[in-house]
Amino acid sequence: MSICQKNIKIYKGQIAYTPTPEGFMTVEDGFIVVEASKVKDVYCTLPNKYKNIHVEDYGNNLIIPGFIDLHSHASQVANRGIGLDKELLDWLLAHTFKEETKFEDMNYAEAAYKEHINLLIKNGTTRASLLGTIHRESAELLMDIAARAGLGGFVGKVNMDRESPDYYIENTYHSISETEKFIRNTLGKYKMMGPIITPRFVPATTPQLMWALREIVRKFDLPVQSHLSEDIKELEYVKRLHPEFIDYASIYNYFGMFGQRPTIMAHCVYVSDEEIALMARSGVYVAHCPAANFNLSGSVAPIRKFLLAGVNVGLGTDIGAGHVISIKDVIWQAIQASRVYELRTNHKYKALTTAEAFYLATKGGGSFFGKVGSFEPGYDFDALVIDDSNIFTVNPRNILERLERFIYIGDHRNIVQKFIAGEHVI
Ligand SMILES: [Zn+2]
Repeated sequence: MSICQKNIKIYKGQIAYTPTPEGFMTVEDGFIVVEASKVKDVYCTLPNKYKNIHVEDYGNNLIIPGFIDLHSHASQVANRGIGLDKELLDWLLAHTFKEETKFEDMNYAEAAYKEHINLLIKNGTTRASLLGTIHRESAELLMDIAARAGLGGFVGKVNMDRESPDYYIENTYHSISETEKFIRNTLGKYKMMGPIITPRFVPATTPQLMWALREIVRKFDLPVQSHLSEDIKELEYVKRLHPEFIDYASIYNYFGMFGQRPTIMAHCVYVSDEEIALMARSGVYVAHCPAANFNLSGSVAPIRKFLLAGVNVGLGTDIGAGHVISIKDVIWQAIQASRVYELRTNHKYKALTTAEAFYLATKGGGSFFGKVGSFEPGYDFDALVIDDSNIFTVNPRNILERLERFIYIGDHRNIVQKFIAGEHVI
């Protein structure tokens, strides 16, 4: 082995990924050559220059990119499946805010956050944008737990200084100073995890707090995440609070939450064409969380409209409004939701194909984190090895049929190896 080949690793298997939403790239008995943390290339036949390097042969197993979760409340892991027959605002008051108060207790936070990160990785999530609570110290702990587990992504300390219960609200100045402290304590501390500014949503943040967050975003060059247009009553609530704005998205834009670094907006169900155009211009990412939308509002987001308008879209579990923690399951939920949307629009906006939904779950959301979510040269090697031999079959299946069956009827036990940025993760 020559010196320049020292950091090279080669993996062999049945490879599938989506360089574009239009379709899968598959390679039977293919080779992925990885140098340090990044993919060098994918080959049908291994070039001679690599002949002397050990090949990790996964045989008939599938090799696919890791999954990306663009929106997950790590603080709601203990409430998964609770109160999902309620509407959003009632659910927040009845269950969610009460649960989030517990994260002042670092022991509780440690147990819950360890469980959440463990579940994400077990289910093949390799990058995630996570929400903590209003508590700075436990948000820092969440980032530490995620980084130690090898996960890549962001953690936000949530900001809430109005329209919130007395037992779960911040003083504006405290919210600002704790956010600055959170940034100073975490920015640059970890290789693959970092802070993200996280106003809960417009109703829960005063203009004064929003202005301050804008300054923090600019000062530290940070990304932003929040919620937009999840529910009709929420929309009416926002209109009552801010009659001076033409729509919900314009409020975030006015307060500088769009267009600095990329921003993630979860849900985006009831958005106008003008809001979609604004989001496209501002490089906003939609975190599409179909399970949460079905659970709390019986709604479907106009994902085809976003894609046609050139808006970035990724998938999110939205734990705990969403009850499933596997992005694999969010893929089929997104396809189902898109079929409902197609029918609702009299077939004007076509349902997502499997390739499109898989793209959203990998490269679509992955682009928020850099070159992530594909096996094209230069991409971080985030990969899952899938052993689907326990999924009953009589007829021979090709790679795509096997991948579809894993997505619809497989589970975390089929994921036998995981890599994040070239590192083997357990
Ligand atoms: Zn959410």
